[in-house]
Amino acid sequence: GAPRPRDRRSRVTGLFGGTFDPPHNGHVALVETAREHFGFERIFVFVVVVPGHRTVTLDVANRYELATLAFADIPGTEVVPEEHEYTVDAVRGGRYGDAIFLVGADEFAGFLGWKDPNGVLEHVRLGVATRPGHDAEDFGPVLTQLERPDRVEFFDIPPVPVSSSEIRARLARGEPVRGLVPDAVADAIEARGLYR
Ligand code: ATP
Repeated sequence: GAPRPRDRRSRVTGLFGGTFDPPHNGHVALVETAREHFGFERIFVFVVVVPGHRTVTLDVANRYELATLAFADIPGTEVVPEEHEYTVDAVRGGRYGDAIFLVGADEFAGFLGWKDPNGVLEHVRLGVATRPGHDAEDFGPVLTQLERPDRVEFFDIPPVPVSSSEIRARLARGEPVRGLVPDAVADAIEARGLYR
């Protein structure tokens, strides 16, 4: 017979890392869509404390709290501060079991520049969120240089054209960001006077 919804849930854990400076609707859409696509029961959202290759404007306590607000409505998500600078160090040791690390297509385009990309794929699979119309063929040049391209899976998400940098720029100019970030995040940013 047809599988019951429960049977479609997989044991695979979703992992999603970012600076979340601040979290926005693009991040939420990615996690929501991935949850459906892969059938995750649990998703850990890593708030990277000190990112390896970029600077952050907001302290980790605020970024952690904003991320907690942003993902609160997605069942099974747990936001955790991540002390490791690099993904390969965060996922080493197999502590998440069979896990899929989620990234946006823009991140994956630069995947060969990550610390030990082949090491990352030894420990976790990669789930790359593309936009409808952009398919795996666009990433051939990255895939052909990986030892385990079979560990990379692509899935489509509806395009949400927003970035944290754009949000910060808008807030610095005193412009509203409601509609670009979850309401609870907009409320907290306003109440705390962040990014002014
Ligand atoms: P910034 O503008 O500061 O570079 P960002 O908006 O890209 O930040 P990050 O926290 O650096 O946010 O991104 C975390 C992850 O979310 C990355 O894998 C990135 O590809 C993905 N991502 C960010 N924005 C979007 C979006 N609009 N749609 C889909 N994925 C996104």
